[in-house]
Amino acid sequence: MKNKERLLIDPVKMPEQEPETRIHNQKEVPLGFSLDQAKREALRCLQCKNPKCVEDCPVNIDIPRFIGQIAEGDITAAVRTVKEKNVFPSICGRVCPQEEQCQSRCTVGKIHKDVDKSVGIGRLERFVADWDRAHYTENTVRVETKTGKKAAVVGSGPAGLTVAGDLAKKGHSVTVYEALHKPGGVLIYGIPEFRLPKAIVQQEVENLEKLGVQFRYNAIIGNTFTLQELRDEYDTVFIGTGAGLPRFLNVPGENLLGVYSANEYLTRANLMRAYDFPNSDTPILRDERVVIVGGGNVAMDAARTARRLGAEHSMIVYRRSLDELPARKEEVHHAKEEGIEFHLLRNPVEIFGDEQGWVTGIQVIKMQLGEPDESGRRRPIPIPDSEYKIDCGIVIVAIGNRPNPLLLKETPELQVRDKGTLQITPETGETSIPGVFSGGDIVQGAATVILAMGDGRKAAEAMHRYMTGEQE
Ligand SMILES: Cc1cc2nc3c(=O)[nH]c(=O)nc-3n(C[C@H](O)[C@H](O)[C@H](O)COP(=O)(O)OP(=O)(O)OC[C@H]3O[C@@H](n4cnc5c(N)ncnc54)[C@H](O)[C@@H]3O)c2cc1C
Repeated sequence: MKNKERLLIDPVKMPEQEPETRIHNQKEVPLGFSLDQAKREALRCLQCKNPKCVEDCPVNIDIPRFIGQIAEGDITAAVRTVKEKNVFPSICGRVCPQEEQCQSRCTVGKIHKDVDKSVGIGRLERFVADWDRAHYTENTVRVETKTGKKAAVVGSGPAGLTVAGDLAKKGHSVTVYEALHKPGGVLIYGIPEFRLPKAIVQQEVENLEKLGVQFRYNAIIGNTFTLQELRDEYDTVFIGTGAGLPRFLNVPGENLLGVYSANEYLTRANLMRAYDFPNSDTPILRDERVVIVGGGNVAMDAARTARRLGAEHSMIVYRRSLDELPARKEEVHHAKEEGIEFHLLRNPVEIFGDEQGWVTGIQVIKMQLGEPDESGRRRPIPIPDSEYKIDCGIVIVAIGNRPNPLLLKETPELQVRDKGTLQITPETGETSIPGVFSGGDIVQGAATVILAMGDGRKAAEAMHRYMTGEQE
């Protein structure tokens, strides 16, 4: 097929649950491509000789190759290509910010001058991964002979799981220590079922167990065990404890009943199945009017969860404009379709409550945008005397997370940078303690799944060399 013809093919629309249906259930919103749809979308790829999409993929998947294989109908080959570089494609195909990474550099999108017309690389990655799960025909994983070396991984988020998988494949014995009672980190306690089904994460964990990886739950390093104890027992240790400590607004009224951190709200709703109360043990507050403060993926997830829990008005309050919203474009689009209300250029100044201490509303001030600040985004500036109250019964604060200081406090030898992130050697992920490596949100600050996985992969290579004495 000639490029001219490829460029005439319209992007294939992702089949999705209708908004009116999906706000009443927890099931995944996009339904995934059929084989025909995937092949058609794959035909849109121009198979660039110098593919910019690959440059912008943090794990450098050979994107044109796997898309070409889909177009030819050789999905098993496409699975192999993707898995060469990405251990968890069914997760990344769902939650990676593709529109800012691979798809932002796609030549097709550039020719059409519209990133939404780029080849749906993420959707095709998801298709390949789902095909693999449904038609699993070959074991693509090769495990090398046992080395007799032992590694401990602290935290079972995407960074820790990647390290565990990579080291197990190289023949090392790996034990993962997880503070919670389930593995997966944010993938399981933060990102809701309607964006990333728990069964997918669970299956990835089971695959690691098949490789011999052991999991120890309810094990808080820095409390249940010290890092030194792990250091004594294992040849090397990876710290992937993420950034699970919520930031708060520091405004009057923040201690009222009905104010949640997004972390608590989403953990209750997702991990502890509060949406199914009383069939599950965990209660959660419900209200007709819920305000979510923040504009990232976490805020969108909380707002969409509140809608599913019955909020007629689930309202995002964000201090900048739509252009600066840090959430993925697709998630904002889904949120809008589901009726989430956006109160933009507004900043909370106070939360009000009644005599019993329950939230009754939030006072916000209007903002305007000034010059760009250190983040490169235009600085929001309050407009004097523009405050007003939004009535609501629940306020959810989703303005960012910091690393949990517990392990770091218990281990003063670990060098920490500002904002509590860990200092590492960038090339290897090694911390200030020899043999102790790290990566993911604990190093990057609240970042992305794929960056956490990329860090994990780099650290695993360095840990392997550390344990075996192999040179690069
Ligand atoms: C609600 C939400 C939505 C998001 N949406 C997206 C998205 O759409 N796309 C995207 O790319 N990214 C998204 N992110 C960010 C992404 O999930 C994180 O960047 C990623 O999970 C970081 O991985 P990690 O392995 O470093 O840490 P985490 O996933 O945070 O995992 C860390 C694990 O370590 C455990 N732990 C912590 N301390 C200890 C200890 N002392 N001992 C033992 N275990 C410990 C924790 O319980 C946790 O299980 C989202 C984040 C949130 C909160």
